[in-house]
Amino acid sequence: MLLPVLPTRLGLFKTTVVDEVQPNVLTPSVEPARMARIAVTDGMDKKAVSLLEKQGHEVVLKHYSAEELLDGALTAFDAIIVRSATKLTGEVLRASQGGLQVIGRAGVGVDNIDLETAGQLGMAVVNAPRASTQSVVELTLAHLLACIRHLPRADRSIRAGKWEKSAMKGSELSGKALGLIGFGRIAQAVGQVAQAFGMVVHAYDPYLPPKIAKAQNTRLHKTVDALFANCTHVSVHCNLTDETFHLVNAARLASMPQTGLDGTPCGNHIINCARGGIVDEDAVIEALASGTLTSAALDVFEVEPVNPDHPLLQHEHFHGTPHIGASTLEAQARVGADIAVNVMAVLAGEPCDFVVNREHL
Ligand code: NAD
Repeated sequence: MLLPVLPTRLGLFKTTVVDEVQPNVLTPSVEPARMARIAVTDGMDKKAVSLLEKQGHEVVLKHYSAEELLDGALTAFDAIIVRSATKLTGEVLRASQGGLQVIGRAGVGVDNIDLETAGQLGMAVVNAPRASTQSVVELTLAHLLACIRHLPRADRSIRAGKWEKSAMKGSELSGKALGLIGFGRIAQAVGQVAQAFGMVVHAYDPYLPPKIAKAQNTRLHKTVDALFANCTHVSVHCNLTDETFHLVNAARLASMPQTGLDGTPCGNHIINCARGGIVDEDAVIEALASGTLTSAALDVFEVEPVNPDHPLLQHEHFHGTPHIGASTLEAQARVGADIAVNVMAVLAGEPCDFVVNREHL
């Protein structure tokens, strides 16, 4: 479905001659005729920046502190492109009023942007939801495999001059049940790879038409408790909302089986490559300490960057990554190209499928 054309404040832009663009994969179908000032605050792929510039837009690459944002640093821009580091709260957005018409989130999650306030102020928020899917899928599998084959521990051990073969005995993914919380783009692709590994895939997603899970040979549960009770391996792929905050809690971790469908004592494992806060980190620390949980791997944390003194980082059976789900050359190139095209579409008053706050505009 296409979004109705958004009104563009035509008077805001200077008329400018648009450069001839060499055809390449990043060339958009959108042809804006007026120059816009676009702030890119958390970095963006170089090709995407030059795509915007080749279309005649002025791009300012600069990260602003929270104080600068509250002081109205964005009032001089028509568009802003952020990743997750820039927090566009209601207060910041109110302080940014002037010419700001479109906010581009170079990625999927928009929990760092107050969508409702943006809409009320006439600012469309667009994202690039598909560009990082494959990269997050691959990181999820990397974490899953690292858990069950003890890769971080084995590496630390060998660096310490040890040769602990028996302490590093792992288990296979094959013949185990994988539970996916949320069954959207990323989870469905994780499920396909997991099935290729021989896993039986379960999912919990109250908003998913059951026929989608059925078509993917996935057992859809009506409650998240039922998913935990059936799965030795659980991976989180839902959005962070009031409903999903601390969805992975002590009671649910304790209810996970530790024996695979094939009878192997494989332990139980939790992965979160979605958003910090969905997994209760205190519950994970306690479950690892008590043995109700065998291992945990997180790409995302409740507070980022994670505090170096965080007790999870001390635990032998925990490993983490610094929110790198979308940090691949391929994903960043795709994210940059997609968000540049989506931002330009809104600026040009063209239809755009990726406006995420349309109900507030
Ligand atoms: P998606 O929108 O395709 O899928 C999310 C799914 O979660 C949807 O099917 C939705 O119905 C489901 N959901 C919503 N509320 C739920 C609830 N209460 N319980 C269970 N399921 C619920 O999104 P996606 O592209 O698959 O992304 C999934 C997650 O991955 C998002 O949180 C996104 O922010 C995150 N992500 C992380 C990185 C990273 O760098 N680690 C990169 C990209 C995406």
